[in-house]
Amino acid sequence: MKVLRFQAQVDETKCVGDKLCQNVCPSGAIQVVAKKAKVDWEKCVGCGKCSDICPHDAAKLVRLAQDKIIGIAPEELETLAKEIDELCWEAGLPPHRVMCSCTRTPAKECAAAVLKGAETPEEITAMTGSGSGCGIYCLARTLTLLKHHLGELKPPKGHKWYDSTPSMWDVPPEVEEQHPESYLKEDRAMRLEYITRKGAKQ
Ligand code: SF4
Ligand code: SF4
Repeated sequence: MKVLRFQAQVDETKCVGDKLCQNVCPSGAIQVVAKKAKVDWEKCVGCGKCSDICPHDAAKLVRLAQDKIIGIAPEELETLAKEIDELCWEAGLPPHRVMCSCTRTPAKECAAAVLKGAETPEEITAMTGSGSGCGIYCLARTLTLLKHHLGELKPPKGHKWYDSTPSMWDVPPEVEEQHPESYLKEDRAMRLEYITRKGAKQ
């Protein structure tokens, strides 16, 4: 969940259509059509990356008349709780764990976005605000979540994704069995206990 106070706007008289903004937008909100950038406010999460990168001063953030909240409503999280739990734990992400440190979005909210149809990190960002800060550390976790739900993924043309980092949660059980000397099972159990205790306190 994120509170928006600003969203992007383009001054078409200054826009030269070089797509720099389109390539850095984390939610796919700004697209160049007929050589002019256009912003979809349904998707814009007000991160300001377009305005930071625009060399022609065409993309700018404008103050909204009223704050706007984006995210998955608590009642939807409640309704989807069982499926969210299953998806998060399958991906090795405790549901209450923060996925995006910049916006403090928990894994359960991103999982809910996936269950509601998001198929790319950009769609998750547009639905939750997650990934609208640095966009680096959350991306690996976001891709892990999507891969567990959809299988292999391909980045959209022109976009770069840092791939998900394999962790102890990705080691198949048969490999774990073959290498008891690595204490993977014990490490996972300890980590889970720590995360569960930490989550209970939040
Ligand atoms: S970066 Fe600026 S000039 Fe380039 S397409 Fe986007 S708004 Fe237009
Ligand atoms: S989400 Fe960020 S980069 Fe994309 S249009 Fe909105 S302010 Fe610009």
